Amino acid sequence: MANVTREELPFDVLFVGGGPAGLAGAIHLKTLAQKKGMEIEVGLIEKGDSLGSHSLSGAILDPIALKELIPDYLEKGCPIESDQCRDSFYFLTKNRSFAVPFTPKYMHNENCAVISLSRLTRWLGQIAEGLGINIFPGFAGTRVLFGEGGKSILGVGTGDKGVDKAGKQKSNFEPGVDLTARVTVFGEGSKGSLIREIGEKMRIFSIGMPQIFETAVKEVIELPETNPFLTSEITVLHTFGYPLGMETKGGGFLYKMKDNRISLGLVVGLDYEDPLLEPRQMFLKFKRHPLIGNIISGGKILQTGAKTLSVGGYYTMPMLAVDGALFVGDSASMLNSQRLKGIHTAMKSGMLAAEAVIQAFEKNDFTRKTLGAYEIGVEQSWINKEHYQARNFTQALSQKGILKFMHVGAQYFSNGKGMKDPISIKEDSATLKKLSKNQIEAAKIEEKPEYDGTLFVDKLTGVFLSGTQHVEDQPCHLLVHNTVICETQCYEEFRNPCTRFCPAQVYEIVEEGPDQRRLVLNPSNCLHCKTCEIKDPYKNITWTCPEGGGGPKYSIV
Ligand code: SF4
Repeated sequence: MANVTREELPFDVLFVGGGPAGLAGAIHLKTLAQKKGMEIEVGLIEKGDSLGSHSLSGAILDPIALKELIPDYLEKGCPIESDQCRDSFYFLTKNRSFAVPFTPKYMHNENCAVISLSRLTRWLGQIAEGLGINIFPGFAGTRVLFGEGGKSILGVGTGDKGVDKAGKQKSNFEPGVDLTARVTVFGEGSKGSLIREIGEKMRIFSIGMPQIFETAVKEVIELPETNPFLTSEITVLHTFGYPLGMETKGGGFLYKMKDNRISLGLVVGLDYEDPLLEPRQMFLKFKRHPLIGNIISGGKILQTGAKTLSVGGYYTMPMLAVDGALFVGDSASMLNSQRLKGIHTAMKSGMLAAEAVIQAFEKNDFTRKTLGAYEIGVEQSWINKEHYQARNFTQALSQKGILKFMHVGAQYFSNGKGMKDPISIKEDSATLKKLSKNQIEAAKIEEKPEYDGTLFVDKLTGVFLSGTQHVEDQPCHLLVHNTVICETQCYEEFRNPCTRFCPAQVYEIVEEGPDQRRLVLNPSNCLHCKTCEIKDPYKNITWTCPEGGGGPKYSIV
């Protein structure tokens, strides 16, 4: 492409990502600045076409951070689906369910609220706009602007718009903009593509303790008014066991929402070993289990979605501050997997980042020396207390057999220390086991799922129900570095797990003759969940940001 001149748009502080971490950070920063009489120009970019359109969550909110940020949040109209969280916890076998007589203390939700994250995010966005924060939806950060020698961060470049598949400018071409700032706060969410670039250059991630992830597949279902579940006591239901079994991390959830709706989902740990496992099909099996099937009978899917969760926690957090930048929310492993929650920790991390930014402006020093106050703030806050207690939890769940329960039990009575501290983990891309001939033969006769188009839908209908759209004529945002590996080695060893772990049928292997096959990509279906970059066994896939405004359009999930 011909040389492009990019405009520079300077801010004092730039937030990258309009999720709860970035929005809470921007609101807190502007509020503190106003109290101190400081003029700080704040910008926030979001790759989705509007705030909330890429926000998808399990959606139980511990309001602790929200209360600190906006004490009168209820009076201000915060969208809460239900403030009655009565927990129930079930162990599932294929055909039966057993209520667990006690819910572990860290899973108690009595002071929490069921929310739709996309609605909460929109509401936070209105508050941010009211404070004068410049919000730019539809702007995807695609390049980190590094200072000299790659030792500091100066801002973020947004992607060009109006470029065709071959990389040529179309008639509607608009060059990206260089957004510069004295501090850039990265809150891209799980497996951010910019923080990956920063990690490679500035080595902010631990090598020995990699970030690890789970994929959540989720739906909002409308139940008929006469459905007895709507008047039942249960508002929050968690399950473990079937269909994942005891060797694969994860479980199901069901939350009661307003207007006869429920939020239903299954979370699958991406350290699973079986290349034939398909998270979305597991979710359908979960829906067909008698406990869940009876509840959702007669219902209709309103919206679907998928995303990954960064669940490694305490030991997998990166360095949180570098010269000119801070890292917040899921990008920085702030989710507490033991409590199955990350919105409160994401918001608090954004707020603590804002407090460090204020100090940086007061000292006129934007290096790690002053911005490092954020790391100290996290260490001294309730985020650290929660995370320290949960520091080995996901790692324990990754163990096999009885060892898993021994670790979890020991941690329960020792403030998280357990039998080994820290427990080491592998990257999710390194856990798949090569297929044997028997497994391949068995896979050929595996039963095919049935769909009814209303309550059980195939992947493509799921993509439609997520509202996902992309400009078709643009460069493919999924970089498969070596397709020969896909068509030969990966096929032989794993039967192309990308065709199964992707919840949106983006990857397909087309048979073209005896021993000849070709990888075909459908990038327009992409839900931006990032599972492919995380789980590919050859690390052969890199997810990059497509043209701003593309992707899902979540509104109620
Ligand atoms: Fe998720 Fe990758 Fe599939 Fe997109 S292509 S939906 S990021 S697995």
